[in-house]
Amino acid sequence: MSDQLKGKRGLVMGVANERSIAWGIARALAGAGAELAFTYQGEAFGSRLKPLAESVGSDFMVDVDVTDDASLDAAFEQLGARWPTIDFVVHAIAFSDKSELTGRFLNTSRANFKRSLDISAYSFVEIARRAHPLMVENGGTLLTLTYQGSNKVVPNYNVMGVAKAALESTTRYLANDLGPEGIRVNAISPGPMKTLAGAAIGGARKTYKHTDINAPLRANATLEAVGGTAVYLISDAGACTTGEIIHVDGGFHVLGMPQYENL
Ligand code: NAD
Repeated sequence: MSDQLKGKRGLVMGVANERSIAWGIARALAGAGAELAFTYQGEAFGSRLKPLAESVGSDFMVDVDVTDDASLDAAFEQLGARWPTIDFVVHAIAFSDKSELTGRFLNTSRANFKRSLDISAYSFVEIARRAHPLMVENGGTLLTLTYQGSNKVVPNYNVMGVAKAALESTTRYLANDLGPEGIRVNAISPGPMKTLAGAAIGGARKTYKHTDINAPLRANATLEAVGGTAVYLISDAGACTTGEIIHVDGGFHVLGMPQYENL
């Protein structure tokens, strides 16, 4: 427990269960002294979230589907009523039809392309637009989660790679728009992690193993490491960092080829 985030409060979006990256981040933020509110998607996820939220001292949970503007409006209205200002929002949300996270990207349907980009990238814009009025007094941090399938081809990642490319670009444009208000906008790019969304990607186990044995650190990312990076970015230690994509992947993204010992 540290007090790096003492006095800061904010919203964490995207906890589905205790394996969620959003949950790793929430635990780390609470451990550093932050006060948290949560969103969840639908009742089933809500009942899983409740005991987790309570374990970090939060009783503030709102049901949000990011494709539904009314639910976003209601969530930020409730947030503003509870807290006149906030310091951060964590956006850990992505979706694509599982049947298109395998095989050829060429077969991506128009409907799933639109839906994947809407939920996984555009939602960050809708959230930023609603969050920034709550950050005007003291500035703040908007944080999202991406993956290196955005700029390199990862088998089966398909349309989600295109969505992450859009999300990373969105991060830079929002950083420039909101910088004059003292609002920083960054993305963390973890290596593959064993979560619900991660398991939906074809060959997930192979990707996990490949990263584990080839990354310079010969290890995959952990929830603790992603959480620690979020604490840094949200804290005053990250005061001059914005528009950045920070990899938390054991260094995997620097590789040009697999390790000789694994060939
Ligand atoms: P997860 O399944 O635990 O979380 C995904 C969340 O997105 C869930 O809470 C789900 O409810 C939410 N969501 C999906 N559609 C939504 C909608 N319409 N409205 C509101 N919420 C919605 O999986 P995760 O791996 O923790 O994913 C969190 C983020 O991390 C995602 O952006 C994901 O792409 C990213 N990421 C994951 C990995 C990985 O390997 N797991 C690696 C890098 C980045």
